[in-house]
Order: sequence, then structure tokens, then C-alpha cells
Amino acid sequence: MKRFELSKKELKEKVIYREKKLMGEFAHSESTFYYWLKRLREWNMVREVNSIVSLTKLGEWVSNASGDEFVHRFEFVEEFICNSCSSEGTVVIFKPIIESLHISKENSLNVKAKCPVCKKEEKIYIKNWKLDDFKNLYNNSIDNLKKFVNIKTQKI
Ligand SMILES: [Zn+2]
Repeated sequence: MKRFELSKKELKEKVIYREKKLMGEFAHSESTFYYWLKRLREWNMVREVNSIVSLTKLGEWVSNASGDEFVHRFEFVEEFICNSCSSEGTVVIFKPIIESLHISKENSLNVKAKCPVCKKEEKIYIKNWKLDDFKNLYNNSIDNLKKFVNIKTQKI
């Protein structure tokens, strides 16, 4: 299992160095780094204590995958987790309303989903999931994620 813990300064330098190497003049700026760090904290994928950034169990789950699986897991966290109800120890997952599942004109998968705790309903747009695979990807994500964190939801 990957271990990850760095000071915020070290992490920023590493990310910016890598970006410049890969993307040259198109590398993202420092403010983009801070934006993403904030989003990753909001999604409970990383924690920051005294300027030390480390992966949470949820972050480990995402970072332990590669290729398509990494993209699917990242989008799962981005779209299906209720940020209002989740904490680092317990992840609350929106349950899709399967009757609402469809492909939009923009070719992304759309589905309505409901939080099992606060009952909030959201419209979810997810780019890299195929319609035929939806149930499997969702259920497999839950089965797999259960090994890393406590979760609240039901399979579909
Ligand atoms: Zn909720």
C-alpha cells in the first residue's frame, strides 16, 4: 500500500516540478495547486494537520488504483459522496435513482441520487462511466471501498 505524507511546501514543489516537466508552459499555477488541495480536503481524500498533508483511507483507496480504475474511483468520490454528511471515518454515499439514469446530449452519464442520511437529492453528471457498466461500477466501488472506510449506503 502506498504511504503518503509531505509538508504542504514539499508537496507543492513536487506537484509544480512534475507539471512543468509534463506540460511545460501549460503547467498549472500555484493557485491551481491550492484550489485542488482544498477540493481534496473537502472530499476527505487528504487531511492537513500543521501543514503536513497526508492521504486519508479514502485517498488511499483512490490512489491504489491506476488507469481507468483510478478515473472511476476519483469520479465516484467527486460525485457520489455527500460532503455534508461524511467525515474522515465514515463516508456517506448517494444512492442513485436508477429510473433517472440516462445519457445527456453532451454525452455524459446523468443520474439523480439521494443521500441516505440527509435525504438531499442531487443531479449527478459523470463523464467516464458507460451506461451498461453503471450498476457494476457503482456496486464494485462500494464493495471495494468498504475495505477502506465505514460507509453508509445501499447497493443498487
Ligand atoms: Zn447527506
